[in-house]
Amino acid sequence: MLRSVFLAAARSSRMERLISTAPVTKGIVTRFVAGTGVDDALRVTSTLAGDGLAITLDYLGEDTLTAEQATATKDQYLTLLKELKGAGLTPAAEVSLKLSAMGQKIDDRMAYEHARAICAAAVEAGTTVTLDMEDHTTTDSTLEILAELRKDYPSTGAVLQAYLRRTEGDCRELSAAGSRVRLCKGAYAEPESVAYQSALDVDKAYVRCLNILMSGEGYPMIASHDPRIIAIAEDRARWFDRRPDEFEFQMLYGIRPEEQARLAAAGHTVRVYVPYGDEWYGYLMRRIAERPANLAFFGKALTSK
Ligand code: FAD
Repeated sequence: MLRSVFLAAARSSRMERLISTAPVTKGIVTRFVAGTGVDDALRVTSTLAGDGLAITLDYLGEDTLTAEQATATKDQYLTLLKELKGAGLTPAAEVSLKLSAMGQKIDDRMAYEHARAICAAAVEAGTTVTLDMEDHTTTDSTLEILAELRKDYPSTGAVLQAYLRRTEGDCRELSAAGSRVRLCKGAYAEPESVAYQSALDVDKAYVRCLNILMSGEGYPMIASHDPRIIAIAEDRARWFDRRPDEFEFQMLYGIRPEEQARLAAAGHTVRVYVPYGDEWYGYLMRRIAERPANLAFFGKALTSK
């Protein structure tokens, strides 16, 4: 019910105008999104880097439906990478991209070619790329594209979602040396046939996946704001003798910044996921709609310091 309300809001240009111009909105947007342009992305990246944090930047533009839009999004990433290098913000900043924004829903090959061009530009800029993971209908295609990209760009990172029943197997596949894996709970509303439904089952699955990645040979990227998950990850890092450069924590821009600072001060690598771009409205609405718990998630962030 709540989900359909927010999905409908995400598609409504009338709601967009209403929400975009409401006085409370600017505060919400600037708390979770760097801004609309590359200059905003650079400004926020520079501040975070100055605070000792690593960054991954996401140009907002998922659900691309035309080849022109996909090319334009790819070009935005090429510009961003050039600017990051020019500003001396690499390797502190890397980029995250959604294959759907590269045209995955139109043609897998197009998405691969665009992602490949971005990986090449990232190498040129002295940094890396992580492929975000979207709904479960795209998992196979995304992992196939990842495997292709990693042949020439082995540092390309993957995202695995603990709520999917298949993910423990994917973690085993991707826990080899050189592999970079961001482990998150998962943000989409998925059917019971493919995903655990209760928060407890998702948390237990997360810890099983965490154990596989932390005991493996790859580079785990622990993406969660959950204090219990973070404490368990800190414990596993000690148990498996992982140094600060052998794994990292990741959190979204604007969520639990005090915890980001605490972990960084404790010597951990902490990477902040920073979205920017004109399409912030859809980003915020979809994040809320994808999983009703995200409503509380954003709400809590708004009221917390
Ligand atoms: P939740 O289960 O949402 O919350 C658990 C607990 O964490 C809460 O009870 C509370 O104690 C604490 N908490 C959570 N939020 C707050 C807050 N705002 N203030 C204070 N305490 C809070 N999903 C995908 O599907 N694909 C992706 O590619 C992807 N990339 C991501 C990248 C990053 C860096 C991050 C952080 C998340 C990403 N996600 C992605 C989203 C992820 O899957 C979850 O939907 C999201 O992170 C919420 O889960 P959680 O583990 O943070 O904790």
